Parts: sequence; C-alpha cells; structure tokens
Amino acid sequence: MITLTTRAELRSACEQARARGERVGLVPTMGYFHEGHRSLMRAARATTDFVVVTLFVNPTQFGPSEDLAAYPRDVSADTAAAAAEGTAALFVPTTDEMYTPDAVTTVHVARITEGMCGAARPVHLDGVATIVTKLFAIVGPCTAIFGRKDAQQLAVIRRLVADLDLPVEVVGAPIVREPDGLALSSRNAYLGADERRAATVLFRALAAATELVVGGARSAQVVGGRVRDEVAAEPLVELEYVEVRNGSSLEPVDELNGTVLIAIAARVGTARLIDNVTLTIEGDTVVADLGTRS
Ligand code: AMP
Repeated sequence: MITLTTRAELRSACEQARARGERVGLVPTMGYFHEGHRSLMRAARATTDFVVVTLFVNPTQFGPSEDLAAYPRDVSADTAAAAAEGTAALFVPTTDEMYTPDAVTTVHVARITEGMCGAARPVHLDGVATIVTKLFAIVGPCTAIFGRKDAQQLAVIRRLVADLDLPVEVVGAPIVREPDGLALSSRNAYLGADERRAATVLFRALAAATELVVGGARSAQVVGGRVRDEVAAEPLVELEYVEVRNGSSLEPVDELNGTVLIAIAARVGTARLIDNVTLTIEGDTVVADLGTRS
C-alpha cells in the first residue's frame, strides 16, 4: 500500500492503475477505523482492483461548535488497518492541500438535505457533498462505497451523482454493529462506560419500531412514538430526532409503505450518535435491514 498526501500524486496513481486496466474503487472516510470502515474497504476490494481509501477530517462538514478539534485520530493504526484490508492507496491530505485559499465553490443538494441531520447541522451535508465531489474528480473511481449508517449522506451522494451525471457507481454497505446492537462509530470513543451502556437504546428503539411494523403498524406517528418512548426511558440519552421518510427521496411519509427509512439522532454525553433501519414493506410482508453484527 502506498500512502499519498497530495492530490497530484493521487490523481497520477489512479491514472496509472487505469492504464494497467485496473478498476479504481473509492472509500472516503474521516479515519479512526473500526469494523464498519473495514467492511467498506472489503466491499471495495471485492469489486475493484485498485482501492483508494481517503482519510480526511473535513473541516467544512463541521459546524463552529462541533467536535472538529476533538475528533479521534490515529493515523498509524489506520494505516495498518487499511493495508490489512488490501487497500492500494491511502490518501491523507492536509486541509491546505484539499482547500486552496481562493476556493469559493460548494456543492449543495437541495431537499434531501432538509431536516434530519440537516436541521441540527446546517453546513454538514454541503461540506460532505463538496468534499466527495472533489474526491470523485481526483480519483475517478468506477465504484465508491458508503455506509448505510449515514443514510442521509448516502441519499445526498446518490442524488448528486445522478444530477451531475458523474460516472461513478455508488454502493451502500450495511450498518456494522457491536454484538449488543450499537452501531460502530468513531464517535463511540467519546462515551463513558454508563453512556456506552445507555447508547444501546438507539438500536433497541429501532428494533422495537421494526417489531411494531412487522406486527402491522403503518402509521409514521405511531412508529415514531414507539422510538420516542423507548429512548425517553433512558435518561442518559437525549433524542434529537426520529424521522420516518421515503427510503430514496427522503420525503417525510405519514403511512409506511414501500421502502421506508426510520432514522434517529441522539446526544449521549458529548457524543452525537445516529442510527437507522430501512424497512421494505409490501402488503403484510416487511423486510427489515438492521445491518450486521461485528
Ligand atoms: P466516517 O469516517 O465516520 O466519515 O465514515 C466513513 C464511511 O464509513 C461512511 O461511508 C460511513 O457511512 C461508513 N460507516 C461509518 N460507520 C459505519 C458502520 N457502523 N457500518 C457501516 N459503515 C459505516
């Protein structure tokens, strides 16, 4: 595995890979790798020949009062993990490398960025859309892999790729969870022992909502209420939102039908955690995608 720090080196390495007839895959990350990140690298490795993993804690996707400075970092452990997963190139640029002082262009995806995480984090999704567009332009991947854990981010990226005719296939990979159900997240490092135990309520709330739907409930209000009740019983966890949305357009829905996303965000101590389940509902049949356990 090569580690690269400049856009020019990365572009050239990808051009050389394509000249050798290799398919280039991309896994964008902010580092501090866990099994969720590693599952994306493996998914990329399974379908492409030259896997590029990018590690950049992107300042433009953090608000002024957010955890940019505190965000966990461990580049040497990340380097070892990426190499172990068969990554061809790890890209670790500085902020100055990614954003020249004269840059004034951003990518804004309308509608899908409204509500959910877009409400509490107004600049976040524009920051994501902009950096991912830049990485697509530098790497030129045929496939890019993103986790379904960040469901709104994935929907934004799918939309921008479609709207801007970008020649990349976007793949959403399953949520990887701890054995007790907590979705893996770099931000779980912020949790104290009691908070860590309490944080499992996010998964339990989604599982309870799923059971309700499997049992026949179709009202978004009822299903959302179930999530609220479950989280309210855990005093260390403060629910920020629960939203029931169309699985692809992310428009709010009143009645659950077709592919539906139930997404939540909550504060647990200093950590802001997100989680979701996708339900595919056809008549009485409900297929739930709650992800996999590590
Ligand atoms: P991050 O480093 O948190 O920006 O995440 C980088 C990529 O890993 C994003 O596509 C995330 O959706 C994905 N990811 C983060 N956590 C998980 C998880 N628990 N399971 C699957 N993918 C994840």
